[in-house]
Amino acid sequence: MAAHGDMCLLCGKSDGLVPDHVIPLSRGGRHELYNIQPLCHLCNFRKAMRIIDYRTPAAMGDKYCQMRAYYAELANKQQILYIA
Ligand SMILES: [Zn+2]
Repeated sequence: MAAHGDMCLLCGKSDGLVPDHVIPLSRGGRHELYNIQPLCHLCNFRKAMRIIDYRTPAAMGDKYCQMRAYYAELANKQQILYIA
């Protein structure tokens, strides 16, 4: 979370942050750091079950590679149809 500036990646608010799963757990996402981004309650609610990655490769560091590999793995299994 701190790597992303302790603020909502969508609206920039710094209060009421929750760890959002980029790929929702209900769609095969894992509860791992590389699948988590900070969003405020409202933006998390609006994102709902969609797969949207608001993070930048720079802020993610080596987790960016893990995430890309993870996307490829899921795409192979056809668990996801697109990458936002
Ligand atoms: Zn927000």
